[in-house]
Amino acid sequence: MLGLALFQAMLRDCRAKFPLIVAAAWFTCGSALGHAQEREDSTTKQPAASSSPGEAWARKNLEDLLTVYQHFHRTPELSFQEKETAATLAKHLREAGLEVTENVGGYGVVGVLKNGAGRTVMVRTDLDALPVKELTGLAYASQVMVKNDTGGEVGVMHACGHDIHITNAIAVARFFAAHKSDWKGTLVVIGQPAEERGSGARKMLADKLFERFPKPDYALALHCDSTLAAGRIGIRGGYILANVDSVDITVRGRGGHGAMPHTTVDPIVQAAELVVALQTIVSREIKPTEPAVITVGSIHGGTKHNIIGDTCHLQLTVRSYTDKVRAQLREGILRKAKGVALAAGAPEPIIEFSDGTPATFNDESLALRITQLFRKQLGEDKIEPGEISMGGEDFSEYGRAGVPILMYRLGAVNEKRLQRFKELGQSPPSLHSPLFYPDADEVLVTAVSTMTAAVQDLFSK
Ligand SMILES: [Zn+2]
Ligand SMILES: [Zn+2]
Repeated sequence: MLGLALFQAMLRDCRAKFPLIVAAAWFTCGSALGHAQEREDSTTKQPAASSSPGEAWARKNLEDLLTVYQHFHRTPELSFQEKETAATLAKHLREAGLEVTENVGGYGVVGVLKNGAGRTVMVRTDLDALPVKELTGLAYASQVMVKNDTGGEVGVMHACGHDIHITNAIAVARFFAAHKSDWKGTLVVIGQPAEERGSGARKMLADKLFERFPKPDYALALHCDSTLAAGRIGIRGGYILANVDSVDITVRGRGGHGAMPHTTVDPIVQAAELVVALQTIVSREIKPTEPAVITVGSIHGGTKHNIIGDTCHLQLTVRSYTDKVRAQLREGILRKAKGVALAAGAPEPIIEFSDGTPATFNDESLALRITQLFRKQLGEDKIEPGEISMGGEDFSEYGRAGVPILMYRLGAVNEKRLQRFKELGQSPPSLHSPLFYPDADEVLVTAVSTMTAAVQDLFSK
């Protein structure tokens, strides 16, 4: 891996030589030039005829959509701080002709477009960005810095592609407002804050999202995928993302001199035993065909070589798909933590489970219906089942609230760029990386054409 200084020098050098090429990440200047050339050619060779009304509309309005996208990319805001992002989204939705309500469950935005009797379809975008300092070198890269909780400066970046999702939601609103004679029903577009903290959806629902506004018959969302080529879609029914729970365990002992352990109850030794004991829950207690993860991500105890402290603090992330396994993991963690303390003759540990995000379960029949639609629309070869993962996503909450939901993955990186990473034996920058960026022009066309087609189809029956 290149050092940061060298990498930045390369980027500067690239930009000086080829001012149009601003984000060729790890590539040499020469290959980056080739890439830009290919992109120019492919833009000029775009077919005049389009396979769906949404695609034709997206291509016609692409320049405008890219301006909207770049604005959001330049002005990212952290979870629970999405004030300007929400206000800008609200403004765009209002201009498109939707009835807009702001400040639903924090900075949540709800836009409603009623067009006669019919189905109600909700399209959800997330609004928040991440505490990541952008290193893409893009001309429209984020320069935003904010103070974090400890007073230090931290960069902010749309490193999860939520700016694509917001732009897509605006495009969908504009498209259906402009084609009112072609559909009947109610379109609900929501901008949801704090997805990265896993609690924005819960807050919007607690603020009576489905009581104050039309409750949808279906809810749709998409998410950028950094491993999937632009133009491709990953879609499947059933579980796609996991239950995510956080656990804090404070192991307790009795402190004293490091040279006199017999006068103490050592919390560090207990913690070490507990880390190992926790691993046996997944490996020995959970059915091997059921996905589950227990990771101890942080362990803190003690102050000095020769002092045995009173406590040691562990932080865990716990992942599963089903409610049954989730409950089993919880019970196992409680039992192991208490068991280690009991064996050491120590006081009971303090164990806190924080409210987690439930697993995302794509409605099976909805997924099947939209998969068939996308196959017809984009071609068989462009549709993949998409990977299931132990990541989390609070879009699941709308499903838990009784609405059939579907989230599909949107290929985010130009095919040729992905191919170069492959040739170099490198993985492309993942979501949340300071080097991740979507090829917005291609990605937005696929986003808008698929989402408008799916919504149109769901309005019909
Ligand atoms: Zn993310
Ligand atoms: Zn995300």
